[in-house]
Amino acid sequence: MSDNFEILKYICRMKILCVGRNYSEHAKELKNEVPTEPVLFMKPDSSVLRKGEPFFHPDFSQNIHYETELVFRINKIGKHIQSKYASTYFSEFTVGIDFTARDLQDRQKSKGLPWEIAKAFDQSTVLGDFIPVGEFDLSNVSFHLLKNGQMVQKGNSSNMIFPIDKVIEYSSKFFTLKIGDLIFTGTPEGVGKIEIGDHLEGFLEDTKVFDLWIR
Ligand code: ZN
Repeated sequence: MSDNFEILKYICRMKILCVGRNYSEHAKELKNEVPTEPVLFMKPDSSVLRKGEPFFHPDFSQNIHYETELVFRINKIGKHIQSKYASTYFSEFTVGIDFTARDLQDRQKSKGLPWEIAKAFDQSTVLGDFIPVGEFDLSNVSFHLLKNGQMVQKGNSSNMIFPIDKVIEYSSKFFTLKIGDLIFTGTPEGVGKIEIGDHLEGFLEDTKVFDLWIR
């Protein structure tokens, strides 16, 4: 009985699904091909930076990049979800950062190895405050990142190669989506390096959803 409970506790943790190369200008800036199907990878729940904490720059990387992305939270369990029903599987979204150790990722990619150490490390997932999807037109949502007060990344969902409904359809062929799962929908162009002392602020339209220091 208690063993089952332990397993249940374990399997009830959420997962973080991420889409790579979902904006063609970003695929080009990293010299990647524009994909014909979503490129998916996952980050564990242990990668989430706790709200209010600074990001402590790890010493295993000399080139950590911010990737500013729209993030959707799944509110219903589902598998083989058709895109026309996908919008019933989430009701809130925000802007987050998919921190990436670009030097490690480049090394892993060049050897054809998995990316986890470059993408899924502790504190690599930043989440803004979630906002009800409500009346937003999800095909035209803008978001941006300020670094030390200057806009360094700006995106609009209209430039996604695979919109959220398509991402849900594709990913749920492989993975059961569960309540609390998060989907990072990919970064637009403009990714860049962070330094200790940087101040990052993320905006969904004009609403500031996170405020973060690099230490
Ligand atoms: Zn990303």
